[in-house]
Amino acid sequence: MRVYIRQEDIDYNSDSSDQSSNSSDDVWEDSSYSDDNAQNDQPSFGILFDVDGVLARGSNPLDPAVQAVQLLKDSSGNLRVPVAFVTNACNRSQDKAKQISQWFNIPVHPDMVIHAPTPARLLTEYHNKHVLVIGQEYRKDIAEDIGFTNTCTIEDIQKAYPYLDMVDHDNRLKVASGTYTDDHSFPRVEAILMIGEPKLWESNLQLLIDLLLTEGKPTYAPRNVQRVRQLPIIACNMDLVFMHKACMPRFGHGSFLLCLEALYKKITGRDLDYTALIGKPCEITYRYAEHTVAAVAKRIGITRPIKKLYFIGDNPSVDIVGANLYHRFLRRQSTAEPDNGNQLSTSPLPRSRSIPCDAKLYEQTVEAMESLLVGTGVYKHEEETNANEDDDVYHGHRDIENEPELAKPSKFVPDVFHGIQHIFERENYGVK
Ligand SMILES: [Mg+2]
Repeated sequence: MRVYIRQEDIDYNSDSSDQSSNSSDDVWEDSSYSDDNAQNDQPSFGILFDVDGVLARGSNPLDPAVQAVQLLKDSSGNLRVPVAFVTNACNRSQDKAKQISQWFNIPVHPDMVIHAPTPARLLTEYHNKHVLVIGQEYRKDIAEDIGFTNTCTIEDIQKAYPYLDMVDHDNRLKVASGTYTDDHSFPRVEAILMIGEPKLWESNLQLLIDLLLTEGKPTYAPRNVQRVRQLPIIACNMDLVFMHKACMPRFGHGSFLLCLEALYKKITGRDLDYTALIGKPCEITYRYAEHTVAAVAKRIGITRPIKKLYFIGDNPSVDIVGANLYHRFLRRQSTAEPDNGNQLSTSPLPRSRSIPCDAKLYEQTVEAMESLLVGTGVYKHEEETNANEDDDVYHGHRDIENEPELAKPSKFVPDVFHGIQHIFERENYGVK
């Protein structure tokens, strides 16, 4: 059963008390509204932005983005339209919020930035378990920031079980020349949170497989690997590749997941089972973004319900597929039968992409999502217009259906400035 809570029931500041260093906190706290926000002038829509390729390239904001954000400000320089930033990157939200705030001279609270792992805040069932966090810089900080209280790293596993990592020949030599023993007091790993690709893939793959084959306690050889209960895995960001400064795409976290899936399947004969896939294009991330927009709307004094969301992205197979999947989810929900008073039954999603029924989220008010694809990032309109669809190779994740229609946006716009103009025209929302 889905649990809705009223806006006033959420103490939204409780989990951000440690972020008081952000210069925009005072604006986030300010729920008063000015003449600019008289109810009739209030938007009933919100806008979600991908960051890289839409608002910025690397660490520099794009000129059309600076112009676009100007349209979103009221006469006091504050946001007059509720927005959130949805990126599959894996950084600390307070760092990205500060950067976006400086780019555009607007107040950006860390909670307005949704990174790939952020919706794991909703997976409360795992927050107090002993969780191995896979990733790189700040991985423990990020995990703790989204609610995980008892984490360990792959280095902790290597140290507790020194004879496991034989793909690292330096370690092989090291343990051969010394006396090492397993640390049997090291607590059993109860779940794995994969927030990004690690360094030293070979060592990580070996130790992950060891944990998966031993229910999190690799001190024995399993008798029948086909019967071992698999540890819960939460994976964030399934992007196979991403664009950076190199002339061709680079491996992303999805490539690492693919390696793990292939090894697990080869060794056990079974498909790797994901407890949760989060990050774009999964529905849970867009649902969390809707929740965030509702919170932002409240903070800037909007009292109307948000009925429509726009997503502006540069990657058809991630941003646009996700927007279309969420639109489909909304449509299915709107036709679902009430199952308990005024509660609607949750529309069916694959188990790995389901949204926890007990998630504490602002009430779902959005009825439709539209997507705008810009040409300032990975998508090149001219090249794609002339491309042969038969040449396409599906790079999406195994648990997300390959439907080319899902990658088609509601509209193509050259850049985010044109995107905002289009939205304002469509919503008949006044340009200042
Ligand atoms: Mg992008």
